Amino acid sequence: MHKKDIKSMSLDEITDEIKILGYKRFNATQIFSWLAKGTLNFDDMTNLSVKLRDKLKDEYKICSTKIIKKLISKDNSTTKYLLSLEDGEKVESVVMKYHHGYTACVSSQAGCRMNCLFCATGKGGFSRNLTASEMISQIQIVEKDMGIKVSNVVMMGMGEPLDNYENTLKFLNITTSEKGMNIGNRHVSVSTCGLANKIYDLAQKKLRLTLSVSLHAPNDEIRNQLLKINKIFPLDYLLSACKTYAINAKRRITFVYSMIKNVNDSDDCAKQLSSKIFSIPCHINLIPLNEIEGSKFEKSQRARIERFCEILTERGISVTIRRSLGRDINASCGQLKFKSLKRSENSNINNCTVVN
Ligand code: SAH
Repeated sequence: MHKKDIKSMSLDEITDEIKILGYKRFNATQIFSWLAKGTLNFDDMTNLSVKLRDKLKDEYKICSTKIIKKLISKDNSTTKYLLSLEDGEKVESVVMKYHHGYTACVSSQAGCRMNCLFCATGKGGFSRNLTASEMISQIQIVEKDMGIKVSNVVMMGMGEPLDNYENTLKFLNITTSEKGMNIGNRHVSVSTCGLANKIYDLAQKKLRLTLSVSLHAPNDEIRNQLLKINKIFPLDYLLSACKTYAINAKRRITFVYSMIKNVNDSDDCAKQLSSKIFSIPCHINLIPLNEIEGSKFEKSQRARIERFCEILTERGISVTIRRSLGRDINASCGQLKFKSLKRSENSNINNCTVVN
Protein backbone atom coordinates (compact mmCIF):
# COMPACT_ATOMS: atom_id res chain seq x y z
CA MET A 1 0.00 0.00 0.00
CA HIS A 2 1.20 3.52 -0.80
CA LYS A 3 1.97 5.25 2.47
CA LYS A 4 1.53 9.01 2.76
CA ASP A 5 4.47 11.29 3.54
CA ILE A 6 3.40 12.69 6.92
CA LYS A 7 6.47 14.89 7.46
CA SER A 8 5.50 16.99 4.44
CA MET A 9 2.18 17.89 6.07
CA SER A 10 1.29 21.08 7.92
CA LEU A 11 -0.37 20.89 11.34
CA ASP A 12 -3.74 21.61 9.73
CA GLU A 13 -3.25 18.79 7.23
CA ILE A 14 -2.28 16.30 9.93
CA THR A 15 -5.31 17.42 11.93
CA ASP A 16 -7.62 16.76 8.96
CA GLU A 17 -6.00 13.37 8.39
CA ILE A 18 -6.30 12.08 11.93
CA LYS A 19 -9.81 13.43 12.44
CA ILE A 20 -10.80 10.82 9.86
CA LEU A 21 -9.17 8.22 12.11
CA GLY A 22 -11.22 9.56 15.03
CA TYR A 23 -8.57 11.66 16.79
CA LYS A 24 -8.31 15.33 17.76
CA ARG A 25 -6.13 18.34 16.91
CA PHE A 26 -4.37 17.87 20.23
CA ASN A 27 -2.97 14.56 18.93
CA ALA A 28 -2.04 16.15 15.61
CA THR A 29 -0.03 18.76 17.50
CA GLN A 30 1.84 15.99 19.33
CA ILE A 31 2.63 14.20 16.05
CA PHE A 32 3.63 17.44 14.34
CA SER A 33 6.13 18.32 17.06
CA TRP A 34 7.62 14.81 17.16
CA LEU A 35 8.19 15.05 13.40
CA ALA A 36 9.74 18.51 13.78
CA LYS A 37 12.15 17.08 16.35
CA GLY A 38 13.35 14.56 13.78
CA THR A 39 11.70 11.45 15.18
CA LEU A 40 11.95 8.66 12.62
CA ASN A 41 9.69 5.99 14.18
CA PHE A 42 6.07 6.24 15.22
CA ASP A 43 6.92 3.98 18.20
CA ASP A 44 9.12 6.75 19.60
CA MET A 45 6.08 9.05 19.86
CA THR A 46 5.58 7.90 23.42
CA ASN A 47 2.79 10.29 24.36
CA LEU A 48 0.48 8.77 21.72
CA SER A 49 -1.59 5.69 22.45
CA VAL A 50 -0.28 2.42 21.04
CA LYS A 51 -3.48 2.16 19.02
CA LEU A 52 -2.89 5.53 17.34
CA ARG A 53 0.77 4.68 16.69
CA ASP A 54 -0.30 1.45 14.97
CA LYS A 55 -2.82 3.30 12.82
CA LEU A 56 -0.17 5.83 11.84
CA LYS A 57 2.27 3.05 10.93
CA ASP A 58 -0.31 1.55 8.59
CA GLU A 59 -1.05 4.75 6.71
CA TYR A 60 2.04 6.94 6.81
CA LYS A 61 5.79 6.89 6.37
CA ILE A 62 8.41 9.19 7.89
CA CYS A 63 10.95 10.19 5.28
CA SER A 64 14.67 10.15 6.08
CA THR A 65 17.99 10.75 4.32
CA LYS A 66 21.46 9.25 4.56
CA ILE A 67 24.84 10.95 4.72
CA ILE A 68 27.12 9.71 1.97
CA LYS A 69 29.95 12.15 2.25
CA LYS A 70 30.93 15.01 4.50
CA LEU A 71 33.58 17.67 3.84
CA ILE A 72 34.82 20.19 6.39
CA SER A 73 36.58 23.39 5.31
CA LYS A 74 40.10 24.06 6.60
CA ASP A 75 38.95 26.99 8.73
CA ASN A 76 36.18 24.80 10.19
CA SER A 77 33.53 27.37 9.26
CA THR A 78 31.74 25.24 6.70
CA THR A 79 30.60 21.65 6.44
CA LYS A 80 29.20 20.24 3.23
CA TYR A 81 27.12 17.08 3.10
CA LEU A 82 26.29 14.85 0.17
CA LEU A 83 22.98 13.23 1.08
CA SER A 84 21.09 10.37 -0.45
CA LEU A 85 17.30 10.49 -0.62
CA GLU A 86 15.10 7.41 -0.36
CA ASP A 87 14.98 6.84 -4.12
CA GLY A 88 18.76 7.22 -4.48
CA GLU A 89 18.73 10.84 -5.69
CA LYS A 90 21.56 12.95 -4.33
CA VAL A 91 21.58 16.49 -2.98
CA GLU A 92 24.13 18.64 -1.22
CA SER A 93 23.50 20.68 1.92
CA VAL A 94 25.85 23.06 3.66
CA VAL A 95 26.18 24.25 7.27
CA MET A 96 27.95 27.51 8.00
CA LYS A 97 29.10 28.57 11.42
CA TYR A 98 28.72 32.27 12.15
CA HIS A 99 29.16 34.16 15.40
CA HIS A 100 25.36 34.33 15.72
CA GLY A 101 24.85 30.57 15.23
CA TYR A 102 24.55 27.90 12.58
CA THR A 103 22.99 28.47 9.18
CA ALA A 104 21.78 25.54 7.08
CA CYS A 105 21.81 25.98 3.34
CA VAL A 106 19.10 23.70 1.99
CA SER A 107 18.56 22.30 -1.51
CA SER A 108 15.06 22.49 -2.98
CA GLN A 109 15.57 20.35 -6.08
CA ALA A 110 17.84 17.53 -7.25
CA GLY A 111 19.64 19.56 -9.91
CA CYS A 112 18.20 22.74 -11.42
CA ARG A 113 16.36 23.79 -14.56
CA MET A 114 17.38 27.43 -14.56
CA ASN A 115 20.74 27.04 -16.29
CA CYS A 116 22.34 30.26 -15.12
CA LEU A 117 25.52 30.47 -17.14
CA PHE A 118 27.97 30.83 -14.24
CA CYS A 119 26.47 28.21 -11.90
CA ALA A 120 27.69 24.62 -11.48
CA THR A 121 24.35 23.21 -10.33
CA GLY A 122 22.55 23.75 -13.62
CA LYS A 123 25.36 22.11 -15.57
CA GLY A 124 24.47 18.73 -14.08
CA GLY A 125 20.88 18.87 -15.33
CA PHE A 126 17.64 18.46 -13.45
CA SER A 127 16.23 15.36 -11.89
CA ARG A 128 13.24 16.21 -9.72
CA ASN A 129 11.64 18.47 -7.14
CA LEU A 130 12.23 17.68 -3.48
CA THR A 131 9.30 17.14 -1.15
CA ALA A 132 8.93 19.35 1.93
CA SER A 133 10.00 16.44 4.12
CA GLU A 134 13.18 15.97 2.08
CA MET A 135 14.03 19.62 2.68
CA ILE A 136 13.27 19.32 6.41
CA SER A 137 15.30 16.13 6.66
CA GLN A 138 18.37 18.01 5.42
CA ILE A 139 18.21 20.29 8.46
CA GLN A 140 17.49 17.44 10.83
CA ILE A 141 20.28 15.19 9.64
CA VAL A 142 22.96 17.90 9.85
CA GLU A 143 21.73 18.93 13.32
CA LYS A 144 21.96 15.35 14.47
CA ASP A 145 25.33 14.70 12.88
CA MET A 146 26.97 17.88 14.19
CA GLY A 147 25.11 17.93 17.51
CA ILE A 148 23.92 21.49 16.88
CA LYS A 149 20.73 23.51 16.59
CA VAL A 150 20.34 25.38 13.34
CA SER A 151 19.15 28.95 13.93
CA ASN A 152 18.99 30.21 10.33
CA VAL A 153 17.86 28.56 7.14
CA VAL A 154 18.70 29.73 3.64
CA MET A 155 17.17 28.12 0.58
CA MET A 156 20.35 28.67 -1.38
CA GLY A 157 21.43 25.13 -2.08
CA MET A 158 20.77 23.25 -5.27
CA GLY A 159 17.68 24.14 -7.25
CA GLU A 160 15.27 27.01 -7.62
CA PRO A 161 12.85 27.11 -4.67
CA LEU A 162 10.19 29.07 -6.56
CA ASP A 163 10.27 26.49 -9.36
CA ASN A 164 9.12 24.04 -6.66
CA TYR A 165 6.67 26.52 -5.21
CA GLU A 166 4.06 24.36 -3.45
CA ASN A 167 6.63 22.18 -1.66
CA THR A 168 8.67 25.23 -0.75
CA LEU A 169 5.60 26.80 0.86
CA LYS A 170 4.97 23.63 2.87
CA PHE A 171 8.60 23.56 3.95
CA LEU A 172 8.42 27.19 5.03
CA ASN A 173 5.22 26.53 6.95
CA ILE A 174 6.78 23.66 8.92
CA THR A 175 10.14 25.34 9.60
CA THR A 176 8.57 28.56 10.83
CA SER A 177 5.60 27.08 12.69
CA GLU A 178 5.81 27.57 16.47
CA LYS A 179 4.70 24.03 17.09
CA GLY A 180 6.99 22.78 14.34
CA MET A 181 10.67 23.67 14.00
CA ASN A 182 9.97 27.16 15.28
CA ILE A 183 12.65 29.01 13.33
CA GLY A 184 11.50 32.65 13.16
CA ASN A 185 10.47 34.06 9.79
CA ARG A 186 13.26 36.58 10.05
CA HIS A 187 15.76 33.76 10.18
CA VAL A 188 14.62 32.12 6.97
CA SER A 189 15.64 33.26 3.48
CA VAL A 190 14.24 32.14 0.16
CA SER A 191 16.52 32.74 -2.78
CA THR A 192 15.39 33.05 -6.39
CA CYS A 193 17.00 33.78 -9.74
CA GLY A 194 13.90 35.81 -10.61
CA LEU A 195 10.64 33.91 -11.07
CA ALA A 196 8.72 37.16 -10.80
CA ASN A 197 5.25 35.59 -11.07
CA LYS A 198 5.98 33.45 -8.01
CA ILE A 199 7.43 36.43 -6.17
CA TYR A 200 4.05 38.13 -6.66
CA ASP A 201 2.33 34.97 -5.34
CA LEU A 202 4.63 34.84 -2.33
CA ALA A 203 4.04 38.54 -1.68
CA GLN A 204 0.31 37.79 -1.29
CA LYS A 205 1.11 35.45 1.61
CA LYS A 206 2.52 38.36 3.60
CA LEU A 207 5.08 36.14 5.29
CA ARG A 208 7.91 38.10 6.86
CA LEU A 209 10.60 35.97 5.26
CA THR A 210 13.73 37.42 3.69
CA LEU A 211 13.60 37.24 -0.07
CA SER A 212 17.00 37.05 -1.67
CA VAL A 213 17.09 37.80 -5.39
CA SER A 214 20.06 36.76 -7.51
CA LEU A 215 20.30 39.90 -9.59
CA HIS A 216 23.85 39.91 -11.03
CA ALA A 217 23.14 42.58 -13.66
CA PRO A 218 21.94 46.19 -13.90
CA ASN A 219 20.16 45.89 -17.27
CA ASP A 220 18.43 43.38 -19.55
CA GLU A 221 21.31 43.25 -21.99
CA ILE A 222 23.71 41.78 -19.44
CA ARG A 223 21.10 39.85 -17.47
CA ASN A 224 19.84 38.10 -20.64
CA GLN A 225 23.35 36.78 -21.21
CA LEU A 226 23.78 35.44 -17.69
CA LEU A 227 20.34 34.25 -16.55
CA LYS A 228 17.98 32.62 -19.02
CA ILE A 229 15.00 33.39 -16.80
CA ASN A 230 15.44 37.07 -17.64
CA LYS A 231 14.07 36.44 -21.13
CA ILE A 232 10.79 35.38 -19.50
CA PHE A 233 10.73 37.93 -16.69
CA PRO A 234 12.77 41.00 -17.70
CA LEU A 235 14.48 43.15 -15.12
CA ASP A 236 11.86 45.88 -14.68
CA TYR A 237 9.09 43.33 -14.18
CA LEU A 238 11.26 41.45 -11.67
CA LEU A 239 12.04 44.64 -9.78
CA SER A 240 8.33 45.58 -9.56
CA ALA A 241 7.65 42.15 -8.07
CA CYS A 242 10.48 42.74 -5.57
CA LYS A 243 9.02 46.08 -4.57
CA THR A 244 5.59 44.53 -3.97
CA TYR A 245 7.20 41.79 -1.89
CA ALA A 246 9.18 44.28 0.21
CA ILE A 247 6.06 46.35 0.90
CA ASN A 248 3.80 43.38 1.73
CA ALA A 249 6.34 41.50 3.84
CA LYS A 250 7.68 44.67 5.43
CA ARG A 251 11.14 43.30 4.74
CA ARG A 252 14.05 44.62 2.73
CA ILE A 253 14.94 42.56 -0.32
CA THR A 254 18.46 41.15 -0.35
CA PHE A 255 19.95 41.46 -3.82
CA VAL A 256 22.87 39.17 -4.55
CA TYR A 257 25.29 40.46 -7.15
CA SER A 258 28.17 38.18 -8.13
CA MET A 259 31.00 40.26 -9.50
CA ILE A 260 32.23 38.99 -12.87
CA LYS A 261 35.31 40.52 -14.45
CA ASN A 262 34.53 42.78 -17.44
CA VAL A 263 30.94 41.57 -17.55
CA ASN A 264 28.98 43.33 -14.81
CA ASP A 265 31.59 45.15 -12.73
CA SER A 266 32.15 48.55 -14.43
CA ASP A 267 31.51 51.95 -12.82
CA ASP A 268 28.71 52.40 -15.31
CA CYS A 269 27.09 49.12 -14.16
CA ALA A 270 27.20 50.36 -10.56
CA LYS A 271 25.54 53.63 -11.56
CA GLN A 272 22.84 51.90 -13.59
CA LEU A 273 22.22 49.46 -10.76
CA SER A 274 21.82 52.19 -8.17
CA SER A 275 19.20 54.01 -10.24
CA LYS A 276 17.30 50.78 -10.98
CA ILE A 277 16.94 49.74 -7.36
CA PHE A 278 16.91 53.11 -5.64
CA SER A 279 13.20 53.06 -4.83
CA ILE A 280 13.20 49.48 -3.50
CA PRO A 281 13.85 48.85 0.22
CA CYS A 282 16.87 46.61 -0.17
CA HIS A 283 20.37 45.59 0.74
CA ILE A 284 22.96 44.41 -1.79
CA ASN A 285 25.51 41.68 -1.18
CA LEU A 286 28.44 41.82 -3.56
CA ILE A 287 30.14 38.45 -3.94
CA PRO A 288 33.27 37.78 -5.99
CA LEU A 289 32.30 35.15 -8.54
CA ASN A 290 33.32 31.62 -7.61
CA GLU A 291 35.10 30.38 -10.68
CA ILE A 292 33.76 27.02 -11.75
CA GLU A 293 35.15 24.39 -14.07
CA GLY A 294 34.19 24.74 -17.70
CA SER A 295 33.09 28.36 -17.41
CA LYS A 296 34.81 31.27 -19.12
CA PHE A 297 33.86 33.75 -16.41
CA GLU A 298 36.44 35.14 -14.00
CA LYS A 299 35.96 36.92 -10.72
CA SER A 300 36.47 40.67 -10.45
CA GLN A 301 39.56 42.03 -8.76
CA ARG A 302 39.21 43.13 -5.15
CA ALA A 303 39.89 46.80 -5.99
CA ARG A 304 37.17 46.73 -8.66
CA ILE A 305 34.65 45.29 -6.19
CA GLU A 306 35.58 47.95 -3.64
CA ARG A 307 35.10 50.76 -6.19
CA PHE A 308 31.73 49.27 -7.23
CA CYS A 309 30.73 49.18 -3.58
CA GLU A 310 31.80 52.80 -3.10
CA ILE A 311 29.68 54.02 -6.04
CA LEU A 312 26.61 52.29 -4.63
CA THR A 313 27.26 53.64 -1.15
CA GLU A 314 27.72 57.19 -2.46
CA ARG A 315 24.30 56.86 -4.05
CA GLY A 316 22.64 55.84 -0.80
CA ILE A 317 22.41 52.09 -1.38
CA SER A 318 23.05 49.76 1.54
CA VAL A 319 25.75 47.33 0.43
CA THR A 320 28.17 44.74 1.84
CA ILE A 321 31.04 42.85 0.25
CA ARG A 322 30.57 39.26 1.35
CA ARG A 323 33.25 36.70 1.92
CA SER A 324 32.53 33.27 0.52
CA LEU A 325 32.74 30.51 3.10
CA GLY A 326 33.77 26.99 2.17
CA ARG A 327 35.32 27.64 -1.21
CA ASP A 328 38.02 25.01 -0.56
CA ILE A 329 35.39 22.29 -0.36
CA ASN A 330 33.26 23.62 -3.24
CA ALA A 331 30.53 24.61 -0.83
CA SER A 332 30.18 28.25 -1.85
CA CYS A 333 27.45 29.91 -3.89
CA GLY A 334 26.92 28.16 -7.19
CA GLN A 335 29.44 25.40 -6.52
CA LEU A 336 26.98 22.70 -5.45
CA LYS A 337 27.02 20.12 -8.15
CA PHE A 338 24.54 17.46 -9.01
CA LYS A 339 26.23 14.10 -8.99
CA SER A 340 23.81 11.46 -10.03
CA LEU A 341 24.96 7.99 -9.03
CA LYS A 342 23.48 4.79 -10.33
CA ARG A 343 21.62 2.67 -7.78
CA SER A 344 24.29 -0.03 -8.05
CA GLU A 345 26.94 2.55 -7.13
CA ASN A 346 24.94 3.57 -4.07
CA SER A 347 25.28 0.29 -2.32
CA ASN A 348 29.06 0.48 -2.52
CA ILE A 349 29.31 3.83 -0.80
CA ASN A 350 30.55 3.85 2.77
CA ASN A 351 28.07 5.33 5.15
CA CYS A 352 30.09 8.45 5.61
CA THR A 353 33.43 9.76 4.38
CA VAL A 354 34.88 12.72 6.22
CA VAL A 355 37.54 14.76 4.48
CA ASN A 356 39.13 17.90 5.85
N1 SAH B 1 18.11 29.20 -7.63
C1 SAH B 1 18.19 30.10 -6.52
C2 SAH B 1 18.89 29.46 -5.34
C3 SAH B 1 20.35 29.17 -5.55
S1 SAH B 1 21.26 30.13 -4.44
C4 SAH B 1 18.86 31.38 -6.93
O1 SAH B 1 19.36 31.45 -8.04
O2 SAH B 1 18.85 32.34 -6.16
C5 SAH B 1 22.82 30.12 -5.16
C6 SAH B 1 23.34 31.54 -5.32
O3 SAH B 1 24.66 31.49 -5.84
C7 SAH B 1 22.54 32.36 -6.30
O4 SAH B 1 22.54 33.69 -5.89
C8 SAH B 1 23.35 32.21 -7.57
O5 SAH B 1 23.09 33.19 -8.53
C9 SAH B 1 24.73 32.29 -7.00
N2 SAH B 1 25.76 31.69 -7.85
C10 SAH B 1 25.65 30.72 -8.75
N3 SAH B 1 26.84 30.43 -9.30
C11 SAH B 1 27.73 31.25 -8.73
C12 SAH B 1 29.13 31.43 -8.88
N4 SAH B 1 29.83 30.69 -9.74
N5 SAH B 1 29.73 32.37 -8.11
C13 SAH B 1 29.02 33.11 -7.24
N6 SAH B 1 27.70 33.00 -7.06
C14 SAH B 1 27.06 32.07 -7.80
